Amino acid sequence: MKRRRMIYEGKGKILYEGPEPGTLVQYFKDDTSALDNAKKAVIEGKGVLNNRISEYLMTQLNLIGVPTHFMRRLNMREQLVKEVEIVPLEVKVRNVAAGSLSKRLGIEEGTPLPRSIIEYYYKNDALHDPWVSEEHITAFGWASPQDLDDIVNLTIRINDFLSGLFLGAGIKLVDFKVEFGRLWENDYMRIVLADEISPDCCRLWDVTTSEKLDKDRFRRDLGGLMEAYSEVARRLGILPESGQGEAKGPMLVK
Ligand code: C5P
Repeated sequence: MKRRRMIYEGKGKILYEGPEPGTLVQYFKDDTSALDNAKKAVIEGKGVLNNRISEYLMTQLNLIGVPTHFMRRLNMREQLVKEVEIVPLEVKVRNVAAGSLSKRLGIEEGTPLPRSIIEYYYKNDALHDPWVSEEHITAFGWASPQDLDDIVNLTIRINDFLSGLFLGAGIKLVDFKVEFGRLWENDYMRIVLADEISPDCCRLWDVTTSEKLDKDRFRRDLGGLMEAYSEVARRLGILPESGQGEAKGPMLVK
């Protein structure tokens, strides 16, 4: 097989040059990291599940008109995406207090928030992705006021849609992180959802038991990460190729 040119290697994914100009291949690794990369492991099969879950969620978001970089899944671990210029921000949305918000502000985990909160973090490993405000973002030119406007509008739509989608599968979307990119089409630029949406970057709790079905299983040494991610995929009606059957769509959990 022809060797492909690697464009970028991150903690959980690799980007390769795509088959056509303006495309990239996004490869999902099994590597898992947490606590600012201090904690690492390889969890066999995790990349396969994240590839499927992210494909499903991006496809559904595309269907409601949220522009994304996703084009199609290529195989168990890879998807074809549009090449975008990544906005150097991690955009977090919180519906329920958990994780760093609970720690920083002393709000008990599981407390519903009076309204959804959007936070921005500057993507910079050396600085440990510091929390920043809109003022910093526009003053330092990481995104323009118009870019930020688009990012906020898309983020609100993504949160509303995914909250409902997960709720239909008996899962509470506690919080999540998304990234955006600039997609250039001739002289025209638009902001699109990029990266991935998977249990690696969301907090997903069972609606009735509050059991954690996300990466906190790894961060907090709870074990059973693959079982949890498989459960999310099963409830969404998708299974890895080695599983049974094709995508059937979400399963209504009563
Ligand atoms: O750690 P924290 O509470 O700030 O995380 C909020 C959300 O953002 C969680 O769903 C977590 O999985 C996600 N996150 C992420 N990548 C990071 C930090 C947090 O996907 N680097």
